[in-house]
Amino acid sequence: MTNQQPHKSKSKKPKSNKNIGVGKWSIDQFKVEPQEGKMRFHDLDLPLSLMRGIHQLGFEYCSPIQAQALPHTLDGYDIIGKAQTGTGKTAAFLINVITDLMENPLEKQFDSEPRSLILAPTRELALQIGEDSKGLNKFTGLTTATLVGGMDYDKQLKQVEGKVDILVATPGRLIDFMRRKSIFLDQVEILVIDEADRMMDMGFIPDVKTIERATPFKNERQTLLFSATFSQDIINLSERWTNDPVKIEIEPEIKTSDAVEQKIYLVSAEEKYPLLRHVLEEDEIERVMIFANRRDLVRDLSERLKKDGFDCALLSGDVPQQKRLKTLERFKSGQVKFLVATDVAGRGIHVDGVSHVVNFTLPEDAEDYVHRIGRTGRAGAKGKSVSFACEDDSFQIPALEEYIGNKLDLEEPPSEWLTDSNNA
Ligand code: AMP
Repeated sequence: MTNQQPHKSKSKKPKSNKNIGVGKWSIDQFKVEPQEGKMRFHDLDLPLSLMRGIHQLGFEYCSPIQAQALPHTLDGYDIIGKAQTGTGKTAAFLINVITDLMENPLEKQFDSEPRSLILAPTRELALQIGEDSKGLNKFTGLTTATLVGGMDYDKQLKQVEGKVDILVATPGRLIDFMRRKSIFLDQVEILVIDEADRMMDMGFIPDVKTIERATPFKNERQTLLFSATFSQDIINLSERWTNDPVKIEIEPEIKTSDAVEQKIYLVSAEEKYPLLRHVLEEDEIERVMIFANRRDLVRDLSERLKKDGFDCALLSGDVPQQKRLKTLERFKSGQVKFLVATDVAGRGIHVDGVSHVVNFTLPEDAEDYVHRIGRTGRAGAKGKSVSFACEDDSFQIPALEEYIGNKLDLEEPPSEWLTDSNNA
């Protein structure tokens, strides 16, 4: 490390909270053999109650981003990380936040003044981070509150009326809370900005700037910023918000992973729906996510599938938040096998056992393609991605191939797959 200065609150204080909430549990119950080239959570001197949470989640070794980021962040350095979802970045920043808060207990903590703030662009992602935080914090005694738009304000207010250790929020809803003086950010010790590029795409940067200004100065807090891409605008913002950051870059796993078999069928626009039915009927589908580029398209598609007897659910920005959560639960629990979604709604959704991803339309952004197909082939399972390319999509294939660094398997499906028996 060079001349960088770690954040001052990281000077080691007595670790008085380290053994909170572990009961009779001991680290002997969490045995992981040292392995060449791999970092264990045991090597990081984390609080025991956090280790118990990590153990319960079934993690053994640090993922690459955790192994790269944690030694720096635990020492108090800011980081900017180039990493996508699926790399374990959520746990990477949460483990740092939790360790820091536990190692530096406050004598007096005020209500509605969170000690750490995690900003995420979409409700789904924020809720997922909130859930991950609750999982890791199961034995630590730290509290997590999640503020997202589209959900009951008063219920969320209750979450932040008392002590808040970790606040996860989307920018718009957080600003509502700040304006109504229901939350105060001047005690934030750690600020995490997740998916900064998506924040920019969604027009949230002015809100994020307002929020950042309400937290302590950057040399009085620790800042972690993540983005899947680094345009000049993002570089400028990260320079503004972080203090001599350590830079970390993780290649998306999917680029090198062969857990997902990818196929593109070349068809006409009219042939897409019959082909979809064929795929859904013929392939061994455990659970499938069907992506299309626009809200109206996913709505039409889900209506058509329902009419044809496929019990499918819909996830898009049009659907009220409460309903989206219920939908996601139904999909996670296996009550519905077919889920039709837009990119924004489908991003950051972690459901194991998604055997297939269908791209009814190819995304305009190659990165979205990687995100989409990353919904399958998770947790060591094999997955299959099937994309339909008509005249309107095909021109994007070369850019996709360049982005993923591989040639894609293009095929013309047999004509008998393309007749819509119901409409014939
Ligand atoms: P993320 O990139 O944060 O969206 O995480 C992707 C998935 O990886 C989540 O389901 C996590 O629970 C899981 N995960 C994170 N860290 C680890 C780890 N060290 N070992 C195993 N799974 C992990």
